[in-house]
Amino acid sequence: MFINGEWVESSNEEVLDVKNPSTGTTMAKVQSASNEDVHRAIDAARNSFDSGIWSRLPPGERSNILLRVAELLEKNQEEFIKIETENSGKSIKQVSGYDIPYTIDNIRFIAGACRTLEGKAMAEYVSDGTSAIRREPIGAIGIITPWNYPLMMVIWRAFPAIAMGNSVVVKPASYTPLTTLKLAKILQDAGVPDGVFNVITGPGSSVGEEMAKSDKLEMIAFTGSTEVGKRLSVLGASNLKKVSLELGGKAPFIVFKDANIDAAVESAIVGGLVNNGQDCANSTRYYIQEEVFDKFVARLRERIQKLNIGDPQNPEIDMGPLISEAQRKRVEGYIEKGINEGGKLLSGGNRPLIKNHENGYYLNPALIYTENDNSAIVKEEIFGPVFTILKFINYDDVIRRSNDVTYGLGSSVWTSDITTAMRATRDLRFGTVWINEHVVVPSEMPWAGYKESGHGASLSPYSLEEFTYIKHVYFDLTGKVRKDWYGQIFKG
Ligand code: NAP
Repeated sequence: MFINGEWVESSNEEVLDVKNPSTGTTMAKVQSASNEDVHRAIDAARNSFDSGIWSRLPPGERSNILLRVAELLEKNQEEFIKIETENSGKSIKQVSGYDIPYTIDNIRFIAGACRTLEGKAMAEYVSDGTSAIRREPIGAIGIITPWNYPLMMVIWRAFPAIAMGNSVVVKPASYTPLTTLKLAKILQDAGVPDGVFNVITGPGSSVGEEMAKSDKLEMIAFTGSTEVGKRLSVLGASNLKKVSLELGGKAPFIVFKDANIDAAVESAIVGGLVNNGQDCANSTRYYIQEEVFDKFVARLRERIQKLNIGDPQNPEIDMGPLISEAQRKRVEGYIEKGINEGGKLLSGGNRPLIKNHENGYYLNPALIYTENDNSAIVKEEIFGPVFTILKFINYDDVIRRSNDVTYGLGSSVWTSDITTAMRATRDLRFGTVWINEHVVVPSEMPWAGYKESGHGASLSPYSLEEFTYIKHVYFDLTGKVRKDWYGQIFKG
């Protein structure tokens, strides 16, 4: 683990196995933090923050250091690509073509944006005084991240935090801690002072909960499941810490009869299967207008048949395994439930045999048609390669059904009619509505949830504001001993 600029072992000498999901074999061991280690890391973050060594640096200086991080990451990207691919099971095509370059762009955006944040007022709102707004760092912050985008999610949460002058303790997911640990070295080499960026590893149920209960952390930024997000909200109440939550999704993908069906099918493949179907933005509920239903489903089936599933290290491969055996069983459980609740399996959902990877956690994408709007495959986040296909009749019907879930993260609409598109951007209750596209999130734009998909925002200037307190500063302009308005309350 990386605490206060040093590599340390767990005080209880416990370790965790880290697996390669494409083979099921152990590829590394990492430390499993004790409560004592958790507090050591929190103290390091707290002390570095209080010292002002980082928090008092002008934004431009912090920005330059973060830009150096981006540069070093770019220089060392081959190593990051290799480890991320091996540890997460994503295809090397995705990691090298999308995850890492995008993550580097995220860092560059955050580094630039932290120089532009401003207080929004400097004016006289009462006649005798000037008011101003300051945005200030919060202090020591706990960051807890999921396994689906190990490096990217640390950047999305920890980088706006440190860009604004906070110090952090990061706990990566136990399945995928390796690139976060590597990142700590890069931050140190780039000149981030000791204690500002600490990484501890170990189970969320002990390490994560201990962080959430700490009175020395003033905020927890969490990306992960809604279930754990709710638990952290409760634990964080111990000192009323701010809890920022980026949680699950159940994105609708709505195809109207006037859509370009070929374009919708191409996007459905990416939207549904990016990251092997383990993406909070994944299109998961495909509402297809009845007039084009057969055409869309036939083409989607055809397109899925052409995908290459196999060893993620092979650049020709489109899809690797799921993250773990537990995750594969969970997804298979949903497929079974979908069928038991009236759904019809149109294709896939079985385990492919991949030569030399027989123990990997592979699953063929499943296509299930259902008319049961209350089925678990329509309501709950599956987080795997499952396309739930539904039919709809008209606009009002599909918007109502799309909104009828507890989640509200991503959504997309496919149409060539501008009025339909504009109405849907108003009527869909999701943090993002894509028109004739799915998944794209530029670094400049917020990734934020409605309802049980959480609150707060990643990326964009909003993610930087998230890691600040807002302070009102008031300057008296009269210099008087007794201001005129005192008489409204006390006699002079
Ligand atoms: P998860 O099970 O909630 O775990 C996320 C993190 O929380 C891990 O580091 C985990 O540690 C830790 N954790 C688990 N139980 C905890 C507890 N009781 N207290 C504190 N920390 C705890 O989620 P996941 O399975 O890793 O990730 C998938 C989920 O993340 C999906 O729901 C997905 O939609 C969501 N996600 C959302 C976004 C977004 O931007 N909205 C982005 C990516 C992913 P261990 O690994 O040690 O269990």
